[in-house]
Amino acid sequence: MEVVYLGLGSNLAGNLEDPKEQLNKALEVLREHPKIDDLICSSFYCTNPIGPQDQPDYINAVVRLNTGLSALDLLDYLQTIENDQERIRNQRWGPRTLDLDILIYGKLVLNKPRLTIPHPRISERAFVLLPMSEIDPQLLITENKTVTDLLANCLDQGIVKL
Ligand code: ATP
Ligand code: CA
Ligand code: CA
Repeated sequence: MEVVYLGLGSNLAGNLEDPKEQLNKALEVLREHPKIDDLICSSFYCTNPIGPQDQPDYINAVVRLNTGLSALDLLDYLQTIENDQERIRNQRWGPRTLDLDILIYGKLVLNKPRLTIPHPRISERAFVLLPMSEIDPQLLITENKTVTDLLANCLDQGIVKL
């Protein structure tokens, strides 16, 4: 079993009531997997978009779970959930019903086009670091910097706890 952190995001309601329900639905489906246990989720946060600014604000959260799935099998499962929830891929960092990223997978370091672990942009994103700090503020993200250390540099990013 590996300890895994996932980033969740949504800024389109799709066929549900609102982006929060997209996250709630994804949490439900994640918990259903027989090889996913002990899932805990941070609070939900409302955040300004990165990339294109002409899109709605995002709802973001971070999850910690234990899994017996390999990293690639976990990515397959996350992409199946995104597709089931009508994620459409066009513009980079454009609006989406659901985004599920693997942030950290145990101590694994992987640099493949399909999967980079740890996620390369954790350190610069308040919408990842702030929810993560609820779960494990002392977690090391780089060689000598914890979640709390890195968060100090991104507190100017618009983010509100719901
Ligand atoms: P960002 O990576 O900056 O958060 P994004 O989440 O909008 O951007 P996507 O369009 O969702 O990017 O994903 C593009 C591709 O990134 C996916 O098809 C996937 O194969 C790849 N990818 C690489 N590393 C990861 C990871 N750690 N978690 C999820 N997907 C990843
Ligand atoms: Ca992402
Ligand atoms: Ca993604």
